[in-house]
Amino acid sequence: MHRLTDISFIKDILTRNGFSFSKGLGQNFIINPDICPKIAEYGNARHGWGVLEIGTGIGVLTRELALRAEKVVAVEIDKRLMPILDETLSEFENVKIINQDIMKCDIAEIIREEFGNLKVAVCANLPYYITSPVIMKILESRVPVQSVTVMVQKEAGDRICAEVGTREAGALTVAVNYYGSTERLFGVPRGNFMPSPKVDSEVIKININKQTPLDSESEKIFFRVVKSGFSQRRKTLANSLCSMMGVPKEQTAEILLSMGLPETSRIEQLNMENLIEFSEKLKNPKSESGE
Ligand code: SAM
Repeated sequence: MHRLTDISFIKDILTRNGFSFSKGLGQNFIINPDICPKIAEYGNARHGWGVLEIGTGIGVLTRELALRAEKVVAVEIDKRLMPILDETLSEFENVKIINQDIMKCDIAEIIREEFGNLKVAVCANLPYYITSPVIMKILESRVPVQSVTVMVQKEAGDRICAEVGTREAGALTVAVNYYGSTERLFGVPRGNFMPSPKVDSEVIKININKQTPLDSESEKIFFRVVKSGFSQRRKTLANSLCSMMGVPKEQTAEILLSMGLPETSRIEQLNMENLIEFSEKLKNPKSESGE
């Protein structure tokens, strides 16, 4: 067992540095030695790759990434962890720690400046309070990241990896499937963390595609439809698009019917292809009447 998962070592280093866990920052550190090597291997940490980590804790995953990847850049918001990381990662020359809030970082700039020609992957045991915004930030900014391998709450993993067009799917499911595809890797029960959280976790991987399916104008409409539809997911799509986007109900109904779908469809009944087709037809309403 490496000392970074040894509970007496963790307690000792935290006490020596006067550190106490912050619930608000989602600080639950991994104490099972088998988990981080698996995340690193699934997460493309290897020769020729640079890895961006979000939230280091005491560096237990950072270490496994540094052992395998060419370079690791880790963003950690909590200043109190800096002297601890100086100690736990002192043997690595390929690790850079940035003491910042990931939500305020310019990820594109970090990648450009730190990774040069390396392929880039994101790996993290994510602070759960920012799961969706972090994933959306990475996807929407179209940074050259090829995969995002993250530990998330089991319920969030279920939702992200759900099939679009089912009740389990949400706006994040659609976004992730727009930019790439998902894989569920393995479950991590709550007892594998210190302190133990109230929920179980799961490691998932998002493989990001080089191309997206729509041009930028249709893409804007696509995401407005998705946002409007899922913010009122119990309403019919015709009703939610009318109230949120001002689209006449008849227009939505007409497009749905032309696609062979009931005019009373709710957003969760449209699969990925349906959502893409719907957005394109909404952008070009004339093609509906064959003009
Ligand atoms: N990687 C470590 C592990 O697996 O044991 C720690 C994971 S812990 C769940 C989440 C980490 O993210 C904490 O170290 C926390 O301080 C950090 N964190 C929380 N919010 C953050 C933010 N906005 N930006 C960067 N790091 C953040």
